[in-house]
Amino acid sequence: MSPNADLHCHSTVSDGWLTPTEVVRRAAANGVELLALTDHDEVGGIDEAVAVAHECGIGLVPGVEISVTFRDETIHVVGLGIDHRNAQLLDGLAQVRSGREQRAQAMSDALDAVGLHGVLAGARRFARNPAMVGRAHFARHIVASGLMPDVGTVFRYYLARGKPGFVPHVWARLEDAVGWIRAAGGIAVIAHPGRYRLSASDMEALFDGFVACGGEALEVVSGAHADSDVLRFASIARRRGLLASRASDFHGGSESPVDLGRCDPLPPDLVPVWSRLRAAAPAAHLHS
Ligand code: AMP
Ligand code: MN
Ligand code: MN
Ligand code: MN
Repeated sequence: MSPNADLHCHSTVSDGWLTPTEVVRRAAANGVELLALTDHDEVGGIDEAVAVAHECGIGLVPGVEISVTFRDETIHVVGLGIDHRNAQLLDGLAQVRSGREQRAQAMSDALDAVGLHGVLAGARRFARNPAMVGRAHFARHIVASGLMPDVGTVFRYYLARGKPGFVPHVWARLEDAVGWIRAAGGIAVIAHPGRYRLSASDMEALFDGFVACGGEALEVVSGAHADSDVLRFASIARRRGLLASRASDFHGGSESPVDLGRCDPLPPDLVPVWSRLRAAAPAAHLHS
């Protein structure tokens, strides 16, 4: 029997609604046996998550979700089973985070120009980690101010690529992100590939580049995937011999289509990425 593994979710350390403690408790209550906390560009929640997972008796895999720019598209690369104290990883993540402040100011200016005034201060109130102000926090503020009904609508009107509040930003290079994850002993995973607006040939180039620099896995089952995405990326996993991950990408609030631990199972012939992972807080009943 496969464990109930959920290898991608967020806490208040980046743009989740729940603290690391609350995330782990909710996962345990939902029957998750192996959880990875993967905040954007930041590992500050891992120690707390490990401690609480230990109390709850579930496995906790230290993780991170790194923002990458590939051919002008933002790609997310999850690192699983990382040593979250590794200096090379920490330096890299600090570098990625460092552009956020300026970007947030530029987003606020751009939104001001289309009549949404003073939104940076509002976004900051939704960001528990002041170094990690991002689009989700802007969206939550705009919803709270009564202008839009939900964050999905805010992204559609204002924050998605091509909309007035979208500010192009250069994140990490693919090979750097994968390199930091590997330096920290982790496995690199392409997050929610079904979300990227890449042509078929750019998608192939993404996987070529990813494998060439040591990437080993992709999310086949994701809270962001339709059934057709699962079929498409299962076939890419088979063809390329990549490990497969299962991941809710839970953020909390009412923003997540799938709750912790509630994704569909992986297609049974794929090799699960957790066959290669060891939990920092091992669940009592899971060996390895
Ligand atoms: P950022 O790193 O600041 O560009 O923000 C990216 C985050 O915004 C993602 O991790 C999601 O949490 C959120 N996000 C992106 N697109 C959408 C969308 N269409 N609807 C809701 N949330 C979104
Ligand atoms: Mn997010
Ligand atoms: Mn993501
Ligand atoms: Mn995510």
